[in-house]
Amino acid sequence: MTAPPRRCLLALAGALLLSACEQPQLYQQRMVVFGTLVDVTLWGVAERDAADAMQAISERFRDMHRDWHAWQKGALVELNQALAEGRAAEAPPELVSLLRQASELSRRSEGLFNPAIGKLIAAWGFHSSELPKGRAPPPAALLDALVAADPDMGDLEIDGTRVRSRNRSVQVDLGGFAKGYAVDAAVLELRRRGIRNAIVNAGGDLRGIGSKGPLPWRVGVQHPQGAGVLATIELRGDESVFTSGNYARFVEHEGVRYPHIIDPRTGRPVMGVTSVTVIHSNGAEADAAATALVVAGPRDWQRIARAMGIRHVMLVDDSGTVHMNPAMEARVQFQGERPPVALSPELE
Ligand code: AMP
Ligand code: MG
Repeated sequence: MTAPPRRCLLALAGALLLSACEQPQLYQQRMVVFGTLVDVTLWGVAERDAADAMQAISERFRDMHRDWHAWQKGALVELNQALAEGRAAEAPPELVSLLRQASELSRRSEGLFNPAIGKLIAAWGFHSSELPKGRAPPPAALLDALVAADPDMGDLEIDGTRVRSRNRSVQVDLGGFAKGYAVDAAVLELRRRGIRNAIVNAGGDLRGIGSKGPLPWRVGVQHPQGAGVLATIELRGDESVFTSGNYARFVEHEGVRYPHIIDPRTGRPVMGVTSVTVIHSNGAEADAAATALVVAGPRDWQRIARAMGIRHVMLVDDSGTVHMNPAMEARVQFQGERPPVALSPELE
C-alpha cells in the first residue's frame, strides 16, 4: 500500500466526514432515516461526484421515509386506512414494488416474515418512537383474534398501482424489510453513477460493493449482550450483512421484556432468540430473512434459510450459544472470547 500524501488532512464539516487528500479516497456522510443513522462511505470517488451522489441518496431516503412510515402520516398510513375499510387505494410505484417483493419473501419464509401483521405490532405498542414502559401486554383475546383473522401479504390484490385487500385485517408494516430495500436502492443509485466501491450502512445493517482500495470492506456485528463487537466479517465484492436483534427494541412490563419481533402464528413476541445475522447478496432478502429466522428460532432456522435461499446464518440464542452453518463459520472472526458454537449441516 502506498503511503498517503503528506498534505492529506481530515476535515470534519457538520455531518460530513471527508478525507481531504489530493486524491480523495474515503468520503463518508451520515444521514438520519428510518429512525437510524445511515452512513454512506465511498472509496476513490472525486469529491464533487461523491457530494452529488450523497445528495441523490439522501433525497431518495427522505421520500422512502415519508412513503413507508408505519404510523406517521404518509402513503403507507393512507394505504392501511383504505385496506382496513375494504377500499382500493392508489400507492406510489416504489411502495407497490416493495409490497410485491415483501409478498414473495413472506411466502418463501412460510409466513414467518409477515409484514401484514401491522395490527399485532401496533397492539404491542411498537408503533411509536417512545416505547411504552410498564404497560401490560395486550389482552390474550385481542391477540388471538388478530391471529385468527390471518392477515397475509397474499391477501393483497395489486393492479398496477392500485392496491386493495381481500382481508380487512391486513395492515402493512415494513419495519422488517424497508431498510434492506432502501440499502439496495442506494447501491443501485451509486452504481448508476459509476461508483463501484462503497458501503451503505443503516445502523449496522449494510451492503458493500467493491472494496476499500486494496483492502476488503470489513464490518462488525454488534455484540447482542452488551457493548462492543461480537465478530467481524470481510465482505467479498457485493454482499449484505443484516442482523435482527431481539435486544434493541422491546417493551417492558413487571420485569419481563417483550421484544419487537412478533411470531405471526401466536401473536406474541419471539422469546429465546437474541439475534440473527445473515450474509446475502442483496439487502432486501437479507433483511426479510434475518427477521424470519428470529421467528424460526434454533429449531427451524435451517429449513427457513434454505427455503429463502440464504447460505450464511448466525443465530445467537438467549443462552449465548451461537448456531451457524459451516460456510458462515468460515466468514466470521469472533472478537474476544469465542462463544459456544453449535454447528449445523451445510445449507447448500
Ligand atoms: P428487523 O429489525 O428487520 O427484524 O425488523 C423488526 C421490525 O419488523 C419490527 O419492529 C416490526 O416493525 C416488524 N416485524 C415484527 N415482527 C415481524 C414479522 N414476524 N414479520 C415481519 N415484520 C415483523
Ligand atoms: Mg429484517
